Amino acid sequence: MADTIFTKIINKDIPADILYEDELSLAFKDINPQAPVHFLVIPKKAIATINDIGEDDRELVGHLSYVAAKVADELGIAEEGYRTVMNCNEFGGQSVYHIHLHVMGGKLLGWPPFTDKPKTLE
Ligand code: 5GP
Repeated sequence: MADTIFTKIINKDIPADILYEDELSLAFKDINPQAPVHFLVIPKKAIATINDIGEDDRELVGHLSYVAAKVADELGIAEEGYRTVMNCNEFGGQSVYHIHLHVMGGKLLGWPPFTDKPKTLE
């Protein structure tokens, strides 16, 4: 797959506000936060979308949730709660084609999310 901006962040070719890093993953603040706390957890392995997650990636994808919870705790939002979201393709609102877990918290979030855009499957 083609490199994305997240490959450049992993390779430290462009800066990011990194919160956590290990051999499998990276967590960094979202550049355009949608909540008082909004960070992304990404695998270092480039996987374009949720649809591209392979059998061998199952542990890696689970690791992203583990890291999300660990960083959320460190940032003090764990007890009140937060939301994790992984968008997939156009209808899911995905804009960067390297899977990433959004972690948003620090305020009471509404549910369900919605859009005024009239596009549907039918
Ligand atoms: P998506 O729309 O694909 O679910 O989410 C992509 C997210 O990546 C967006 O929330 C966007 O603000 C964030 N993002 C895009 N480019 C950059 C960047 O260069 N640095 C950081 N830190 N976040 C980015």
